[in-house]
Amino acid sequence: MATYSQDILIVGGGITGVALAYGLAGSGRRITVLDRQTPTNRASRTNVGLIWVQSKFLHLPDYARWGFLSSRAYPELVAELEAVSGLRIPVQFRGGLIPVLGEAEYRQRGDYIVKLRETLGEYRGDMIDRAALDALLPGIRFGREVTGAAWCEEDGVIEPLALLRAYRAALPRKGVELVDRDVLDVRPREGGGYQAITDNGIFEAETLVLAAGLANRRLARFALNDVPLYPDMGQVLLVERMPYVMPIPVLGATQTFGGTVIIGFRHENSGHRMSVEQKGVSGEGQWAMRVWPELADKRVIRSWVGLRVMPNDGMAIYSRLPGHANAYLICTHSAVTLAAAHTRLLPPFLLGGELPETARGMTLQRFGIAC
Ligand SMILES: Cc1cc2nc3c(=O)[nH]c(=O)nc-3n(C[C@H](O)[C@H](O)[C@H](O)COP(=O)(O)OP(=O)(O)OC[C@H]3O[C@@H](n4cnc5c(N)ncnc54)[C@H](O)[C@@H]3O)c2cc1C
Repeated sequence: MATYSQDILIVGGGITGVALAYGLAGSGRRITVLDRQTPTNRASRTNVGLIWVQSKFLHLPDYARWGFLSSRAYPELVAELEAVSGLRIPVQFRGGLIPVLGEAEYRQRGDYIVKLRETLGEYRGDMIDRAALDALLPGIRFGREVTGAAWCEEDGVIEPLALLRAYRAALPRKGVELVDRDVLDVRPREGGGYQAITDNGIFEAETLVLAAGLANRRLARFALNDVPLYPDMGQVLLVERMPYVMPIPVLGATQTFGGTVIIGFRHENSGHRMSVEQKGVSGEGQWAMRVWPELADKRVIRSWVGLRVMPNDGMAIYSRLPGHANAYLICTHSAVTLAAAHTRLLPPFLLGGELPETARGMTLQRFGIAC
């Protein structure tokens, strides 16, 4: 069996793996990303594309700050990726909205924003009333129960498949190899470094980065039996194409750049089930029609399930593996939102340095795992 040798091996070429690889390009290291599409590890290809930092997370202020850092790094990154890849990436950096129904919900969301602002010291958002919401999105006739929305100017939306494609097209131009292989196993090599055993050859490197989504649980077993990570199921309805009226994304009923509307925001811990169930989507469908009644006259043209890569406490995991100074575990459930932070801010850590201060609490140590 052929053996290939590199400095850094990244297992997983979803949005996390490619964002890290792109950030590492230019470090002078020889880098290979190994990726093979699997039926369950599809979060990078089934998501909504929100760059979403509002309401995240009062109980995890550093995680909230990390999201803001990513959102602020995004515009320059997208411009660069477009130039390097030669591909256009549809994106809006004009904020985001969470509509509320009734007065009680309006007050509740408003209280949350007040607390968030107190905790973070700064927060570029607020509640807006119905008149302001109508003025922001004049092409949408909101339902009569809608009293306003939570608004954050640092949110946005990107065409997630275009982002993934652009990263993947840019990598070879930056000298990074992207190789289609099924990684069957990874293990430490005698005398140092790591081996990835694939369906076609063995890949070796000094440094290993596991960015394979939920498959990280299996691939990390050489160092950690129980990765604190679970599949968090999202079920989504796709509504037929309508004229483009949502340049500012609405959480829960988000219009894509192509004009279709994605409904669905539920989180369920149901193992690896991949089938859509009516009870899992009907509540969100009803909510969406109360917010945007015109949807009631439209056809649902597709539905799908996607499994989020969810660390047990809802934060990201950026960590060395226990006993392995050169093996890294990267798992996040908001990897589109965080792609810019992953590209711009994580590479020094993967090259042996420290995590950025805001992300220092995101290692495995918080789960009581020495690393
Ligand atoms: C319905 C839904 C909506 C979402 N909406 C948003 C959103 O609006 N904004 C946001 O920020 N996030 C959103 N997310 C979350 C986001 O999609 C994930 O955080 C992100 O996709 C995780 O990316 P990843 O690269 O870490 O993992 P994955 O997407 O799982 O990618 C892992 C990659 O590794 C490959 N792989 C796995 N095992 C192997 C192996 N053995 N050999 C070779 N390759 C392998 C897989 O094929 C895949 O390409 C959403 C998720 C869902 C399910």
